[in-house]
Amino acid sequence: MEGNIFKKGFNEQTYSRDNGAFIEYWTNRRYTADQTGQTIEVEQGDYLKDGVLYCGKCDTPKTKFIAPLGATEDAPKTDIVRCVCRCEKDAFDDYDLKQKVHDEAKYIKALRDNGIPEGRLREYTFENDTEKGQMYNNAKSYADAFDYFYKIGKGLIFYGPCGTGKTFYAVAIANALIDRMIPCKVTNFATISNELQSAGNKQAYIDSFNDYRLLVIDDFGIERDTSFMDEVVYQIVNSRYIAKKPIIITTNLTKDELNHPADKIKRVVSRLVEMSGDDGRFEFTGKDKRIV
Ligand SMILES: [Zn+2]
Repeated sequence: MEGNIFKKGFNEQTYSRDNGAFIEYWTNRRYTADQTGQTIEVEQGDYLKDGVLYCGKCDTPKTKFIAPLGATEDAPKTDIVRCVCRCEKDAFDDYDLKQKVHDEAKYIKALRDNGIPEGRLREYTFENDTEKGQMYNNAKSYADAFDYFYKIGKGLIFYGPCGTGKTFYAVAIANALIDRMIPCKVTNFATISNELQSAGNKQAYIDSFNDYRLLVIDDFGIERDTSFMDEVVYQIVNSRYIAKKPIIITTNLTKDELNHPADKIKRVVSRLVEMSGDDGRFEFTGKDKRIV
């Protein structure tokens, strides 16, 4: 017998084969091989040839004939049992790899949930950039060469008015690094201020930012109104400066305000400017991207 068992009209049929054993097809998904009584799954595309079930994907047998249980070794092989076709064996062989990939996927998801708590920002990826202009290239280059920039502690400053794509590209870098299992944190000072208030151990909270290879501080500005928060911000930035761990900030500050910062933010801005270097500061004008 041969041919695709899912031929139109097939539902329930009995096939015979030369040695007298028979396979009864009783649904279009399975058959039972008599004598052993087992049920064997049949996939779409599988076919019969000389009483042997072949895998439709790899064209190797999924069943074989064996002598009945308890029969002598030279007894006729009349029982049909399931065996492993080639693609199934490959799948078994790949199991460890797949398990690893699965674990990695779980780890990446955990990194993203932790590092980018604001769900909508998880959509800010290079893949989702419809324009792929100059800022895409700048940000992508940084992400691609992050291992190097991490080593030298180089950060970035994205500055310019609201709605020009600063946050998009800063977060796209973090998303790309998280895909590579590099721990990143995306936050802003409103969040830091809130979290700090509820933190049991405030110093431990401030120190926790150093656990991340990249820290993205979105919407850095001078709107903070307490010297306490100024000090917290300085501590976070300064401890990363000392540890040579990169920070990316997005800010509405102008080039002039970055070069000549107000007294209130002078210390912290000078650290950030030093960490970014002249070639790590990018002015966003809105020509490259507008987030709606
Ligand atoms: Zn197969």
